[in-house]
Amino acid sequence: MNDRAHGVAAAAFVAAVVRPEVRAQSVYVVAHAEGMVKLDANENAYPLPSAVKTRVAGALAGVPLNRYPDGPAEAVRAALRRALVLPSAHALLLGNGSDELIALVVSMVAQPGACVLAPEPTFVMYRVSSVNAGVRFAGVSLAPDFTLDVAAMLTGIERERPAVVFIASPNNPTGVRYPTADVERLILAAPGLVVVDEAYSAFADDAFLPRVGEFPNLLVMGTLSKIGMAGMRLGYVVGAPEWIAELDKLRPPYNVNALTQAAAVALLADPDWIAVQAAAIRAERSSLAAKLARLPGVTVFPSQANFLLLRMRDAKRVFDALKLRRILVKNVAGGHALLADCLRITVGTPEENDLLISSMTELCK
Ligand SMILES: *Cc1c(COP(=O)(O)O)cnc(C)c1O
Repeated sequence: MNDRAHGVAAAAFVAAVVRPEVRAQSVYVVAHAEGMVKLDANENAYPLPSAVKTRVAGALAGVPLNRYPDGPAEAVRAALRRALVLPSAHALLLGNGSDELIALVVSMVAQPGACVLAPEPTFVMYRVSSVNAGVRFAGVSLAPDFTLDVAAMLTGIERERPAVVFIASPNNPTGVRYPTADVERLILAAPGLVVVDEAYSAFADDAFLPRVGEFPNLLVMGTLSKIGMAGMRLGYVVGAPEWIAELDKLRPPYNVNALTQAAAVALLADPDWIAVQAAAIRAERSSLAAKLARLPGVTVFPSQANFLLLRMRDAKRVFDALKLRRILVKNVAGGHALLADCLRITVGTPEENDLLISSMTELCK
């Protein structure tokens, strides 16, 4: 069989067996970023402190790569429990990034008629994971200023009876943290599980995690990605052991690899550096927001995350021009009607932020 005939025959098999929603799905495209000032993915721009790097290097050198990792990753979970000050009544499950945990939560409820609901615009993986699992996804629009439309959410919950409601707070790509009382109302109204995704809580004024024991239908999710360890792929979900036991059945037995486990234990052994970097990012966020807000035609939305959402005239032109200057930001304009002319810009180092400001000053005159 030549290559072309092989391709045609394979496509016929694909059409016969792959679910239509998967065939209609598009691949998550990661922007090419080599040599760029990378302000597109909400990473922490600061490198590890050198003492921490040395500790990690030592830990990695000792990893027996010929062996499978510790399946339940006990040492990592113990270190994370200490770092998060988790009461022993709460159970904790680790994922290969919280992306994996989102997919596990959706697959846990994937049955005919099930629905996943989330306010939108938000983190795209709630929708992507739902579509991939063949689960109906219902998006409820946020208010135009990206605050939670509680009435619309309550109506949506009543209408859809969702098995899971995902609430990212602070939200991505808007940076808005929803009022605790509003989130509480939604948890009380939901007929099923509510997952509060706190990927950005290190940069926020408050967190929901300490309240996880108050609601039997609440899981709180977190990740090390936005606080300096995105390459490691380690996410977690906290909640009642009854929920975590079900998720654990769906988890691939060795989902957190041995290098990640060893590095995580070393990184969390003395986690003060994380709070120091997060504080620096918060301070930079304020000064960056103030400088960008002075540019003509630019609106900066208030953020409790490590990025800013901006609206401006001709966002696409500004995005392209920044890219030509080797500054990569995220054009989120296509993601939702409310995001028209919006760019999401991660807070970088002071030097990176200065570069951004000088380019933006020239581009937004
Ligand atoms: C970045 C992000 C995640 C994904 O985190 P990983 O642990 O890197 O998979 C989850 N939720 C939200 C809201 C995010 O912005």
